[in-house]
Amino acid sequence: MNIPLVDLKTQYLNIKDEIDAALARVLDRTAFISGPFAAEFEADFAAYIGRRHCLGVANGTDALAVALKALDLEPEDEVIVPALTFIATSEAVTMAGARVIFADVDPQTRCLDPEAVAGAITARTKVIMPVHLHGRPADMAALGALAAEHGLTLIEDAAQAQGAKVDGSRAGALGGLIGCYSFYPGKNLGAYGDAGGIVCDDDDIARKMRIIANHGAADKYGHVTEGVNSRMDGFQAAVLKVKLAHLDNWNQARRTAAAGYNDRLAGMPVETPADGPGHIYHVYAIETEGRDELLAHLRNNGVGAGIHYPDALPRLKAYERLGHRPGDFPAAETLAASMISLPIFPEITPEQQDHVAATIKEFFDAR
Ligand SMILES: *Cc1c(COP(=O)(O)O)cnc(C)c1O
Repeated sequence: MNIPLVDLKTQYLNIKDEIDAALARVLDRTAFISGPFAAEFEADFAAYIGRRHCLGVANGTDALAVALKALDLEPEDEVIVPALTFIATSEAVTMAGARVIFADVDPQTRCLDPEAVAGAITARTKVIMPVHLHGRPADMAALGALAAEHGLTLIEDAAQAQGAKVDGSRAGALGGLIGCYSFYPGKNLGAYGDAGGIVCDDDDIARKMRIIANHGAADKYGHVTEGVNSRMDGFQAAVLKVKLAHLDNWNQARRTAAAGYNDRLAGMPVETPADGPGHIYHVYAIETEGRDELLAHLRNNGVGAGIHYPDALPRLKAYERLGHRPGDFPAAETLAASMISLPIFPEITPEQQDHVAATIKEFFDAR
């Protein structure tokens, strides 16, 4: 049995008629960049998240960078990001011309640890940018309180948490001034190419972000500033509009699959991910000793396991310049060394999950 980490093909086949018809409409109108299809998706997504505005952009990295650019940060201004996330989170800070400051994560939630953030705040701190890692909403109450106390802006990197809901509010609207999403194909809401989105309630910031993302143009050739070229294309918008209607069901299926793994792995020497309010399991990562051996065993038995992520970001060559030492971010480093992501997608079957669990059991039985 071969089980991929993510199965995009099965999902496409389940909604093929809807998708094919939507793509045909885009071809029929030749509305390829921004335009009516992007506008429709933006309206639907803003309503779904519960925000006044949504702006479709070219990818999730740009979503973060455009949001940060709208804040007019100075080169010495600091943005606090988690030490464990995809590099896009910190890259966007540099793209917006500000300084990356890493803070450790909480070993339980795997998201920004509010205490570590408190310790990282300086007179130059302007923004705290939590990531809802693996689909689990970060501790926004504590981070929001810190931001309010120090007069900082909160921006949510909700790239892994489309649709996650805490106390009636969706990720991207959990107290952040701005919420940012990636619609990379493997995300819970994924396009069929690169795409991203930004949500907010503030009219002025929304207008400013739209100008930045469209070459600094307030109208056709009225460039009021230099911006970037980051717009959603019509095909991606059409796919996303179709898929948005399924998102809540798919997220529920992921929660069911996560509970299914928890049951099957009970009693094995692995740590299953802590469930939390709104967790929608973009990734289902266990912690284990002998991580690399187990990973090899899984892959040798047809299980497409992965690692999210193999290094804490400050340990990467890309951030050598910051001069961090091993042990500076103990929780992020420990998680990076011990986590394995198991296959999870809405269509995963109980038989597939049985096979994954049996393969893990076989590994420990042989030790
Ligand atoms: C995927 C991802 C991004 C970037 O998204 P792209 O669309 O690939 O540019 C940003 N942050 C996090 C946490 C992500 O997982």
